[in-house]
Amino acid sequence: MRKRIEEEGFAYCGKIVVEDGSTRLAYEKVASFSELLLNWYQEKGRKLPWREDSSFYHVYLSEIMLQQTRVEAVKRYYERFLKVLPTLKDLASSKEDTVMKLWQGLGYYSRARNLQKGARYILENNLSCNTYPELINVPGIGDYTAKAILSIVYKQPYIAVDGNLIRIYARLHCSPYDAKSKEIKERCNKSFLSLLGKDSSSFNQALMDLGELVCLPNASPKCEECPLKQFCQSHREKIQEKYPRSKKKSPKKEIHKTVFLLSYQGKYLIRKRPNRGLLASLYEFYNVDEHFNLSEAKNYLEENDFSVCAIHKDKKGKHVFTHLLWKMSGFRVELKDYPRNCGFLLATKEELERLYSIPSAFKTYLDEILN
Ligand code: SF4
Repeated sequence: MRKRIEEEGFAYCGKIVVEDGSTRLAYEKVASFSELLLNWYQEKGRKLPWREDSSFYHVYLSEIMLQQTRVEAVKRYYERFLKVLPTLKDLASSKEDTVMKLWQGLGYYSRARNLQKGARYILENNLSCNTYPELINVPGIGDYTAKAILSIVYKQPYIAVDGNLIRIYARLHCSPYDAKSKEIKERCNKSFLSLLGKDSSSFNQALMDLGELVCLPNASPKCEECPLKQFCQSHREKIQEKYPRSKKKSPKKEIHKTVFLLSYQGKYLIRKRPNRGLLASLYEFYNVDEHFNLSEAKNYLEENDFSVCAIHKDKKGKHVFTHLLWKMSGFRVELKDYPRNCGFLLATKEELERLYSIPSAFKTYLDEILN
């Protein structure tokens, strides 16, 4: 109860005796949780391109790009994307390859495909996108994104609970729940919802910024700069680094790959990946889930109807996915001929750079060709 009164902006200042002789706790009005947070946000909040014009399309695009991706990485992609596809209608009517090319390097490519599906779905169904039931049915929009859009664009009373908010909540209250648990998500939502004032847009964005700039992950929160420190139990007890609680992650599965940079008459062989699963519908260099030495690599190609003119070892590469680790060995191969029935395309250097979306998993090899 006392904690709640303090969050609402009253500070305990002693006991007083009332007329009937009983005692009461006395509080004086000071700045509340949300006043302190919003004042801090006004002064220290980040200036981000999608905050300059918080229209539906801008917030929708930025929230999808920001899933699992750092703000600094998103800024450049966001601006380039809007230059080519400035409206929801442009996005809906563009070719999938255009969207994928604009997304190249940002990772988690299913987001890009779903973004376009979502844009088409919204326009086909003539949605206004300002209610939760409408938004939650749009492909690619989950609970977090729906609430972020409703609070930021339409100023509706929702809390967009993500890892930043959970970390702040867990530290404020020394929450014993695991950071990924349903319990902590529900409690975090309820707690911040109860503190939400009229400006839900700024309140949500202030918490996002506080998590990114001050209440940092691991053992490094900058508590002295935090506008909420007077409400923070873990800060008072100097045990911030213990929160949020989290189970140990299981190690990533390692896959050893051989990547062939195949060239034929000055062009490079690439192919489109299947339209489902990891890196779906993106283009790739020919690769197999085996680790080969030079002669094994040559034999493998010849057994599969590639006619090898010259083969050289190339760089080793590594790419980390959420649950996987690819360890790659590369080979540069000049071909006299190649099988025509395996879905390969021939691309020039310029086409690799401009037309085809090759995921950053193959960046080491793409850079080799382009530089
Ligand atoms: S006082 Fe420190 S631990 Fe507590 S919310 Fe602020 S930054 Fe996080």
